Amino acid sequence: MPEIAARLKRLIRSRHSVLISLCVLAVAIALTVGIIIQVAGYRLISIDRRDHSYPSIIARQIARDTPEPPFVVEYPVTKKTAINTQIQTYTNQLVNNYMQERSKRKDATEDEQLQVSYTIRWYDSRTITVDFIRQKHQTNRIWDKYTETLTFDLVTGNQLRPADIIKHTLGLANILYDYRRANNHGQWTSAELIDLLDLNIGSIKTVIPYGSSIGFTYSVGQRTETVAIKKALLADIVGSAYHAITSSESPQKPTLSELITTMPSRDMPIDPNSKKLALTFDDGPGEDTSRLLDALYKYRAHATFFVVGKNIAPAAPIIKREVADGHEIGNHTWDHPDLRRLSGGDIARQIQDTQAAVSQTSGGYIPRLVRPPYGSIDNYVIANLQGLTPALWTVDTQDWLDRNTDVIYDRIMAGARQDSIILIHDIHPRSVDAAIRAVRQLRAEGWQLVTVSQL
Ligand code: ZN
Repeated sequence: MPEIAARLKRLIRSRHSVLISLCVLAVAIALTVGIIIQVAGYRLISIDRRDHSYPSIIARQIARDTPEPPFVVEYPVTKKTAINTQIQTYTNQLVNNYMQERSKRKDATEDEQLQVSYTIRWYDSRTITVDFIRQKHQTNRIWDKYTETLTFDLVTGNQLRPADIIKHTLGLANILYDYRRANNHGQWTSAELIDLLDLNIGSIKTVIPYGSSIGFTYSVGQRTETVAIKKALLADIVGSAYHAITSSESPQKPTLSELITTMPSRDMPIDPNSKKLALTFDDGPGEDTSRLLDALYKYRAHATFFVVGKNIAPAAPIIKREVADGHEIGNHTWDHPDLRRLSGGDIARQIQDTQAAVSQTSGGYIPRLVRPPYGSIDNYVIANLQGLTPALWTVDTQDWLDRNTDVIYDRIMAGARQDSIILIHDIHPRSVDAAIRAVRQLRAEGWQLVTVSQL
């Protein structure tokens, strides 16, 4: 045993590790179990001791049995064999990757060492979350420091990855966005905030069950953050796997720099000091309107839909959703005639039938605006609009003519000026593609996208 301890002492050179090794030496004779094992032709020294903070966990240290060992790895050993196997596979992979990388690298010196250590972030009867800290070390230099966090279910032995727990990524993105927007203090740009709304499951690195809350570590652009959210706020976001693994016990108080305890508001009152414009979509609803609505919802944008009366009944769910999502619906006549060619009675019927269809379908929404097809309007038409306000546009994207996503997108962006009213058609797939791209970009540039009546 003293021989093992003496070998281990030689292995470790960083100041931090020297402290650990002195602790190890102090208890080595009494408590630790040291063995020399033969793996793939290497002699490895393996030393077990009790984890300082968690007596039921064994801290195992493994190193090559050479005077200048190229790696020293420490990892926790739990009572669950399935977890231990996964942790060993993980640390073996770290060592193998390092040894391969080192063998190819010209500047690698004899005293260079991969050091892997761990800290337990959370440990209760259901889950354990471990941070693995790895770094490369030379006598005067530490570099490539990197932490990876793994969470395991202590009952099933499975690793818990974000995808196992989060079922509704946009829901999570919404909470994080609302929270960050309300607590921004000017740190995040509008572009970074919009990136947050694009959060996908791959950007979420870790989920950490903290008893009564759950922590998410995620990356957005250059930023990596950990934010914890109270369990009660996550009902619609996490799947059944999450409910199975959370326990109400709190054996330790986690240190959480950011903890969301109340649901932030999705409401975004219009800021009168910020730039705004209105996107308007004519002739729908169409087949592509629902994915446009998805994008408007995601990026917190509103629009005005000038709908054609005869399209309404087949698209009842779309009309309902436009109203529910806070968009404006305008009247674009029943079947898109040139109103200047109609009698007063026919104009009235075009308007009234469409008003009735919107109202019946939506459960009482009454459009206030009318957009005459082709912008064809004169005083006689105006006199027969049944009291509705005519609403034209300031920017015509001519999307129906070109039907080219890039061209339409460029025209929308070129038309983005204070209080612009931009005309697009949501019945053409390329127009909808361009509009979705523009909505994201305009929001990233800080534009408020409002309805015509909100201008
Ligand atoms: Zn039209």
